Amino acid sequence: MTKRITALILTLVLLLGLTAAVGAATLDCTGDVCPLSSSYIGNARTHKFHYSDCRYVGRMNEDNKVYFESRDEAIDAGYVPCKVCRP
Ligand SMILES: [Zn+2]
Repeated sequence: MTKRITALILTLVLLLGLTAAVGAATLDCTGDVCPLSSSYIGNARTHKFHYSDCRYVGRMNEDNKVYFESRDEAIDAGYVPCKVCRP
């Protein structure tokens, strides 16, 4: 009986912890598009777009980063796929 209650409490604590973590991540979002939910990142200067984990994204100036949620969105905006990560 006690064991069951302990397990229940542990589950609740775990769920609350997860909710708090997700809430904290959401708070980091600024602007219209949340960088965490964007899989593609464009460079406003070169008009090329990359997968968010491409090595070129790390070198990019934060001011030049444009976030896209889909490949089509980037292409519609006039961006060209990167030849290294081939998004
Ligand atoms: Zn790339």
